[in-house]
Amino acid sequence: MVPAREALARLKEGNRRFVEHLRRADGPARRLELTQTQAPLAIVLGCSDARVPAEIVFDQGLGDLFVVRVAGNIVAPSQVGSVEFAAARFGTRLVVVLGHSQCGAILATLDELRRPSDTQSRNLQSIVDRVRPSVEGLLETDLRHDPDVLVKQAVRANIRTSANHLRHGSPILEQLIRDDGLLVVGAEYALETGAVEFFDGVPVGV
Ligand SMILES: [Zn+2]
Repeated sequence: MVPAREALARLKEGNRRFVEHLRRADGPARRLELTQTQAPLAIVLGCSDARVPAEIVFDQGLGDLFVVRVAGNIVAPSQVGSVEFAAARFGTRLVVVLGHSQCGAILATLDELRRPSDTQSRNLQSIVDRVRPSVEGLLETDLRHDPDVLVKQAVRANIRTSANHLRHGSPILEQLIRDDGLLVVGAEYALETGAVEFFDGVPVGV
C-alpha cells in the first residue's frame, strides 16, 4: 500500500511532468488552444475502475474526450445531465458507454443478489440498485451454474441498460438522436487484452 503522503507526492510529480511537457501528453500549444473552447470527439460514460482510464485506453489527448466515470458505468440523473450538457453544448455526436470485464460493481451486485446483506452503505447500495435490474434475470437462468459466463453476460447486460437509458431517458438526447445524428453505443474493454469491443448500437457497416 502506498501511503497517502507518498501518493500525493507522486501525483504532484506527475503533474509537474505534465506541465513541463515531459510526457507524451499534448504540448503547451494544444493546452492554450483549449483555454477558450473544447470540441470533444466523444463522450464516454465509463467505470471508475483504475484499470480503465478512457483517455489512455483510447489513446486520446487533452480536449478529446468528455468523460463521466462512475462505478459500474451506471446512469443516474447526474450522468444523464452530464451527457446532455456535452452533447448540446459542444456538438459531440458520439456517446460511448464503456464497461469492462471483471467489473467490481457487477461482482458486488451478483454477490448481493446471492447473499443479501444489510451492512452495505446506502450510497454503495444505490449503485447496486441501479445494476440489479439488468442482471437479476440472469440468475434465474442456467447461467447461475457458470460463474464466468454469468459475469460476462451481466457486464454486457449492464452496459446495454446504461446505453438504453441514455437513448430513452432524456428528451434532449432523444431529440439529438432523432434529428441530429447523435449515436449512443455500448462497448466493453477487456482487462486481459486491452481491446475494446463495440457491441451495442453500432450501425451496420461501421
Ligand atoms: Zn468496473
